[in-house]
Amino acid sequence: MIFRTTGSPARTARRGARTATVPRPLRHRLDPAAVEEIPFDAGDGVRLGLTRVGEGSGEGPAVLLLHGHTASADMFLLPETRNLVDVLLDDGYEPWLLDWRGSCRLPYNETGRRYTYDDVALYDIPEAVAYIRQRIGDRPLFVVAHCIGSLALSLSMTAGLVPGLAGVVSQGVFLTPKLAGRTSLRMSVAGELLKGRIDHIPVDFRTVGLRSKYTPLFALAGRKASCPDPTCQILHNSAWGTGASLFVHEHLCETTHHRLAELLGPAPLWILPHLRRMELARTVVRWHDTDHRYRALPANALDAAARIDTPVLLLAGSENGLWLDSQELCRDVLARRQPQLDVSYAEIPGYGHLDTFLGRGAALDVFGHILDFLGERR
Ligand SMILES: [Zn+2]
Repeated sequence: MIFRTTGSPARTARRGARTATVPRPLRHRLDPAAVEEIPFDAGDGVRLGLTRVGEGSGEGPAVLLLHGHTASADMFLLPETRNLVDVLLDDGYEPWLLDWRGSCRLPYNETGRRYTYDDVALYDIPEAVAYIRQRIGDRPLFVVAHCIGSLALSLSMTAGLVPGLAGVVSQGVFLTPKLAGRTSLRMSVAGELLKGRIDHIPVDFRTVGLRSKYTPLFALAGRKASCPDPTCQILHNSAWGTGASLFVHEHLCETTHHRLAELLGPAPLWILPHLRRMELARTVVRWHDTDHRYRALPANALDAAARIDTPVLLLAGSENGLWLDSQELCRDVLARRQPQLDVSYAEIPGYGHLDTFLGRGAALDVFGHILDFLGERR
């Protein structure tokens, strides 16, 4: 059985393996000698993945890459395209890849303990930044973050937990999450309907089988779909059943399209209440209001935006089918409320959400914006 329901004894038993196992191997075409995989735990002891790419002891500014939820560091290393790590290495940067606790490379992806984005902002990102700083000394450290990785980073930044970054590139969403109308509606409906019965939305139809409780979800996602691949349908047409769209279909090369179930894991439903709260507030908010362990995080990240102490480039595809124009909204709101901040916005014409990193043409259409931003501040 692949998908477990809440409270399964097997699930509890597996928790012990959480810190004893290593992340699934990365898929890349780099020289293995240049890839350093570091045993790394978050501030609360949860095993994460941290990888440094580069020869020798390293030189050049460091760039920490943060993936989106259910994705992994693999999204920056696609062997089938010219990927962001290639581009950064060629320009003299030292890429660092964090697999934070929502990574599909981590063995506890579906069985580990539940968390909220508070944990990512409080325990995962600051710990990774602190570790990297210790390794790179006084070299500059940038962050390039995608989707929920960027949203969680905004919470870390406004909490003052990662001060002194040389610059931040945020893709898709930052301080002002705004989801497509039907997405937010379905998020609440799906959350209610599915509560207690299943706790993940799978993406790989091959592991689900033809007759399962997930079949209606895939059937719904497959309606009016032009692509016959059920994994693609549930991501492209339905973003794990939410009704949003994660990428512009023709931007993926055939190999990437074929690997979607490997690049994006099942989506946990128990995270929806935190996401829903943010979506209703139109800003990144802390989940834990009374638990003192989280008091370092601001209750409302937008209200604490004055703490941002680094230049920020907000990136978004003009056709982002998940977060719409959240980034443009963020630029406008920050320009009004925090005019002293160095915040810019770049829109990628014709691009959706994930294809800004996974797209076969991303090196030409997207990464130049990132390199320009970093280059001006290195
Ligand atoms: Zn497809």
